[in-house]
Amino acid sequence: MRDDHEEARLDALYQLKLLDTSPSESFDRITRLASQIFGLPVAAISLTDRDRQWFKSRVGVAHCSIPRDTAPCAQVAESSQLLVIEDFSADPCYADSVLGRAGTRFYAGAPLVTRDGYGLGSLCVLGTEPRKATDAELASLVDLAAMVMAQIELEHAFGRIDPVTGLPTRNQFRDDMADLERDHPGEQRFAIVVDMARDDQISRITRALGLARVDDFIREASQALRVSLGPGRIAYQVGNAQFAFISPPGVEQLAYVTLLKASFEAMHASSSVRFVTNVAIGVRSFIVGTVSADDVLRGAASAAQDARGTDNAIALHSPANDIAHRRQYGLLQDFGAALEAGDELRLMYQPRIELATGRCLGAEALLRWRHPKLGDVSPAEFIPIIEQTSHARPTTQWVLDTAMDQLVEWTPSGILPMLSVNISAANLGEADIIQRIQRALLTRNLPPGRLEIELTESAIMDQPDQALAMLRELARTGICLAIDDFGTGHSSLAYLQRLPARIVKIDQTFMQNLTEMHGPDFVLVETMIGLAHKLGYRVVAEGIETPEAAAILMQLGCEEAQGFWFARPMEADQFAAWLSDRQDDETAEPSYI
Ligand code: C2E
Ligand code: MG
Ligand code: MG
Repeated sequence: MRDDHEEARLDALYQLKLLDTSPSESFDRITRLASQIFGLPVAAISLTDRDRQWFKSRVGVAHCSIPRDTAPCAQVAESSQLLVIEDFSADPCYADSVLGRAGTRFYAGAPLVTRDGYGLGSLCVLGTEPRKATDAELASLVDLAAMVMAQIELEHAFGRIDPVTGLPTRNQFRDDMADLERDHPGEQRFAIVVDMARDDQISRITRALGLARVDDFIREASQALRVSLGPGRIAYQVGNAQFAFISPPGVEQLAYVTLLKASFEAMHASSSVRFVTNVAIGVRSFIVGTVSADDVLRGAASAAQDARGTDNAIALHSPANDIAHRRQYGLLQDFGAALEAGDELRLMYQPRIELATGRCLGAEALLRWRHPKLGDVSPAEFIPIIEQTSHARPTTQWVLDTAMDQLVEWTPSGILPMLSVNISAANLGEADIIQRIQRALLTRNLPPGRLEIELTESAIMDQPDQALAMLRELARTGICLAIDDFGTGHSSLAYLQRLPARIVKIDQTFMQNLTEMHGPDFVLVETMIGLAHKLGYRVVAEGIETPEAAAILMQLGCEEAQGFWFARPMEADQFAAWLSDRQDDETAEPSYI
């Protein structure tokens, strides 16, 4: 069994991640020099692994490793001492070694020693004749070994030290977390992320003052942070203007965070661009060894984002928020596959009823997603996530095509006059959206009056000018337009008046308490219906769950309604059956009259 020192030595070697890497000229030129100085054909940078000597660089050697057992380089690494073997055949230890048997007679090796004193291996020269080494030759060998170590440290530091602030980077954070896991498993600690400025503030400083000024700002901030953390606590640079550090053991979270806030205020006050930036701090507590370094950082950084919305600019990592963000991200990742798979998406159809007659005038196509692992995911959850991405376009196209195919299938029985399809705000920005909608109808020989496009009031108000232009063009094609979720989107009367829509669908939230005449919701709904009528719209009430609500709406002159009380959204065949049952019954008076 090897002792503790040997394990620590091996650990130091492994952390450098040098073993089994490709040859590199920066090391080879040192090896060549060693061979020239001694006038010998063989030289190598030889690293002492658990069971082998592995050559990072070699001159005159064919193989890239030899067994560690009886290798003189292993002795150099273990002792961290210079070793010269003038004649193998006269040396009791090495006469019968692997090298000795292969014809080596001379060896000189200088140790490669880390700053912490661990011998990693040796820079060595070998000859096939016995020989002595001069003091000058050996001094050069020691110098060259120091150059090898400098090169190793330089390459190791690359990517670990931020060039602007000189702070260790995220890579170093990961390695230091691994050390923490080894040395202090089970301890309770906090990771703290300090976000110096919002992204838009950084871009504004860049535009106004230039990149060099941003570097100055980040450098100043890092120095102030180092001072306020005190000696012994390492601050890492984990993002452009983002720093992280780990709390010392045994501190109480609230006290530490309060202290931190005071220090960050001091830090903030010392920065020359403090007036144009906002600092936010995120804290994530964790038990050492139970969470990966990346998760710890992600949690604290996401808390720092949450902190932007709070008064004191400090937020603790919330597992609930984290789970929600991760689910959203996962859904977004998986939705692309759903669009390709074809069998995860389907449409359901919810009828729209004319209140005065009880007739079904049309239906709304509602998208459904059955995720292979999560099961049914509501469009209220996934649509807001995907509609901000490049998935918006193919999704709407899929819904349009599927709904129009369904209309064609239903046409011979003449059962359904019209289908409504929802489109997203993002679709308004697609230059060819109108053509694509028209093409969906034309290729199936469907008249434009069979399709209604629903766009929410808030989507319209997101880009009012773009929406108006697009909706006007759409109206010219004869396709009917509905303003969805009306009452939730802050549109002005003046704007509403200009919209070429035919229908407004009053949002379901207004219907929930519509059980009695002259209650507060009654007044609201009455006003909305009156207003919509004055502006020339036909009114549809969404989310009707009771006969009372249906009766009130009819009295208020609302033309149509949609809701669970009439029918829930149904699968295509179920909907067709529901509709034909109902048409058989057409003469019956609606039951809410
Ligand atoms: P929406 O367009 O306002 O659709 C009406 C929503 O209300 C549907 O929810 C429907 O199932 C639900 N609903 C209908 N009657 C009742 C009722 O009586 N009570 C209650 N509580 N709810 C009722 P769903 O299908 O979950 O869709 C949610 C939203 O997702 C839709 O609201 C729409 O904005 C969006 N969405 C659905 N399908 C699509 C689509 O194909 N494309 C786009 N862009 N958005 C879609
Ligand atoms: Mg809708
Ligand atoms: Mg709606």
